[in-house]
Formats: sequence, structure tokens, C-alpha cells
Amino acid sequence: MANPIVQGARAAGGHLLEMKDVHVSYGKTAALHGVSLTVQPGEVVALIGANGAGKSTTLRTISGLLRPTRGEILFDGRGIGGMPADRVVALGIAQSPEERHVWPAMSVYENLSLGAYLCKSAAEIEQRIAKVYARFPRLKERHRQLAGTLSGGEQQMLAIGRALMSEPRLLLLDEPSLGLSPRMAEEVFDFVREIHAHGVTVLLVEQNVHNALSVASRAYVFETGRVVAERDAAGLLQDPELLSAYLGA
Ligand code: ATP
Repeated sequence: MANPIVQGARAAGGHLLEMKDVHVSYGKTAALHGVSLTVQPGEVVALIGANGAGKSTTLRTISGLLRPTRGEILFDGRGIGGMPADRVVALGIAQSPEERHVWPAMSVYENLSLGAYLCKSAAEIEQRIAKVYARFPRLKERHRQLAGTLSGGEQQMLAIGRALMSEPRLLLLDEPSLGLSPRMAEEVFDFVREIHAHGVTVLLVEQNVHNALSVASRAYVFETGRVVAERDAAGLLQDPELLSAYLGA
């Protein structure tokens, strides 16, 4: 990929993101039991596993919505575990949440503007919206349309576009194909490939293993709050035993 920023970071050899032995609980209920993983600059990495395995919890913990009870999360070598979500965004991590969560009674344009809440000037917001529109002309065509009237796939693109408004280096995507038809899911994954081609590193949670491995180069398999395997995407696709043991695929 011809992205000097990404290549420079990779040459430096550091992880963009590193989780070391991260434990997270919801009240008294433990959800992550010592998750360790890494993401290199320029990668698309997938987290896969059955319902309740801890994939979304992992993303929510990285983005600052949950606080680890133990362990370390490093972004560019800097500890971010337990940091407030707005500071995590300011450092360059954005999350597009599960179930899309667009504001249905607001236009595409207004939804995108909300994603730029850290921008200091109106001109900067306009500039960023123009960039998102250039990348996703479908959103531009619908910029006055109320988000609630968009198709499921378009709402997903809008949710991702809104996350891109903070110009993240790491984009966290939670189930981008949830509830979409196979054709729309394919469009959303094309969209993810395009974002990646523009130099954004992606950490993706995806229930559909084949979709996930069509876009990711590497995957971590989760089971009951633990990482039970790490494979490159091609290796995982050729491991039917692992796929059926943990994913029923
Ligand atoms: P899914 O695809 O179903 O979201 P997941 O792998 O993302 O699965 P998590 O949502 O991270 O799994 O859930 C991990 C564990 O934490 C599960 O046991 C789940 O029931 C629990 N959990 C998730 N969210 C909450 C919450 N808000 N309060 C209490 N427990 C929760």
C-alpha cells in the first residue's frame, strides 16, 4: 500500500496497538480474562468467535467505554487503558458501534458533523465532510436525506463515515454486516477495503467468518473472554477443525 505514514510506522517496527493480559468485568461478572493481542500499522485484523465471547467488550475497552481491571493497553506505545473515550478519539482511535446507531431524524450531513466534535473550526468540519463525501459518493448524493430513511447498508456506511470524521489511525468496527443482506454486506466490506487502502488500520469484530477473512489479513479467535487462537486469514480458512470448534463455521 502506497501510504508513506503507514509505511514509516511499520518501518519503525512498533505495534500500533497492543493489549497485554487485559481483564474486564461488568460489575462482578468477568467478561475478559487476560486478552493479549497486537495490531500492526496498516493491518486489518479481525476478532472472531461465538456470541458472548468478548469481542465487543474488547473494542469497547480499547475505545475507553470500559475500564480494564487488570492489564495494559498501548496505542503507539502509550498507555490508554481506562483513558476517557474522548481522549482516546483525540489520540487517533475511532469506533463505529454495533447496530449502526445513526441519528435517524438528522440528515446525513448532520450525522457526519456530529462525528467531528473535536474539531475546533467550522471550516475544518466542512473539509472533513468533503473528504468523506469524496470517498463515499453515495453519502454525498444523500447528504440532505434523513438518516432514518437510508437503507441498512447506507446507514452502516454513514456510521463508519461518522467515525472517520475524527480522521483516526485506528478504526474499530463492530459487526459492520449485522442485519444486512449479503449484497449490502459485500458493499460495506468493499467500503472497509477502501478505507484500509487509504492507510487506516482496522480492527474488526465480525460474526460472519468468511466476510471477516475476506478483508482481514490476520484474526484472533475468542472463546469465553479469552484468545484461543491467532492465525493469518488464509491459514484460518484452511483450518476447518478450528473453525468448527469455535465458530460453528
Ligand atoms: P456478541 O457478538 O454477541 O456481541 P461478543 O463476542 O462481542 O458477542 P461481548 O458482547 O463482548 O461478546 O460479551 C462478553 C460477555 O460479557 C458475555 O458474557 C456478555 O453476556 C457479557 N456482557 C456484554 N455486555 C454486557 C453488559 N452491558 N452488561 C453485562 N454483561 C455484559
